[in-house]
Amino acid sequence: MIDNLTKIDSYLMNLINKKKVLQLIRQHKEISRSQLVKETKLTTPTITRIVDDLIVNDRIVENTGFENSKAGRPSAIVRFNNKENLIIGIDLGATHIRGVLSDLEGSFLYEIQVPTEIEKGFEFIFDNVIDIINKIRNRRGIDPDHIRGVGIGVAGLVNYKTGEVEFSPDFGWEGINLNLELKKRLDIPYFFDNSSRLMASGELESGKYNNLSNFVVINIGYGIGAGFVVEGSVIKGYNGLAGELGHVLVDYKSPVQCKCGQYGCLEALASGHRIASLGEKLIQSGKSSLLQELVNANSGVVDAKIIALAAIKGDKECVKIYNEITDYLCIGIRDIINVLNPEAIFIGGGISLAGDFFFNMINEKIPAYLFKSKFKVPIYPTTFGEQATLMGAISLVVNKILNFELDYQLNDGKVSS
Ligand SMILES: [Zn+2]
Repeated sequence: MIDNLTKIDSYLMNLINKKKVLQLIRQHKEISRSQLVKETKLTTPTITRIVDDLIVNDRIVENTGFENSKAGRPSAIVRFNNKENLIIGIDLGATHIRGVLSDLEGSFLYEIQVPTEIEKGFEFIFDNVIDIINKIRNRRGIDPDHIRGVGIGVAGLVNYKTGEVEFSPDFGWEGINLNLELKKRLDIPYFFDNSSRLMASGELESGKYNNLSNFVVINIGYGIGAGFVVEGSVIKGYNGLAGELGHVLVDYKSPVQCKCGQYGCLEALASGHRIASLGEKLIQSGKSSLLQELVNANSGVVDAKIIALAAIKGDKECVKIYNEITDYLCIGIRDIINVLNPEAIFIGGGISLAGDFFFNMINEKIPAYLFKSKFKVPIYPTTFGEQATLMGAISLVVNKILNFELDYQLNDGKVSS
């Protein structure tokens, strides 16, 4: 009995130490064995045994050379074995489906993008997702056995207990059991979560302000969602449906109906979809010749980006549109700041591509919406811009690999944790 317990103890201790070493490699990218001894405070023989195990048996780490050392024996430098640990990340958005092949360090090696074509329905879209995954797996020069898993970000309410996309106003889906569908079609581990929440976990793990542990990422694209990071964790809520910032009420008298059925939601009044529809009305009114010109040059497409461009070029009517939607956004941001006391707010998604014009407007307006405080909450663009959801989707799989949890998840299709 005692022997068995001792065995379990040493197994767990070894696992904890291996995870510690992997986290340090993740942080440093390249690190010498002697530095690992220093930072973990483990003995040299223990580090030698752990690193050799990670190289030979787990195949997660590799030697890359020796550090230059004036005194004593040079110490071997290690890094992740990127060649044998590949991850497929999918961003299933309302306008595009993007698939990338990434290594353990989050570098993109290959990318495919196709239009989503929402109107064609779930089966068509899902076939395209599987097709992208298979194309990446079968790409020349890639050993499919080296692909360790797939991480998917989906624009919708993901119930992590049932694996269902309960509702997606963007796609018009209700009760889609994504877990079951993926189980039928994939023979490698897969994980999925709400795309805004993934943006937040990507920002938390690899963002340029990675010392923050209380912040919010607002994803403004076709719709609006958010990921809330509280005390260093991305909150999910009881069923995993937390973060639906798009459906907070910002104007109770508004006649504008949201895709969720309610009126006056932030998403109905300030999303990319809303900006585009205000732009379309502006064109019909004939009040902006500049916007008309830009839209003509954009093959007739009216979207948030083209309206931002017209506003930046000085079109007063287009500036008015951004003035209106940033007022609504400030109401939403004010509520977040008052409820959660975050250190910073990040804004990602298509709208953030409007750049300084948009961020200056928001940052200038927000103080008027808040009570006086010495601490001003900065509002930044997300670190990874258009790649933000993909970075989060990839980190779903990377975290499983680095915590030795991947193999237990095969075809169990658990959502992010
Ligand atoms: Zn709504």
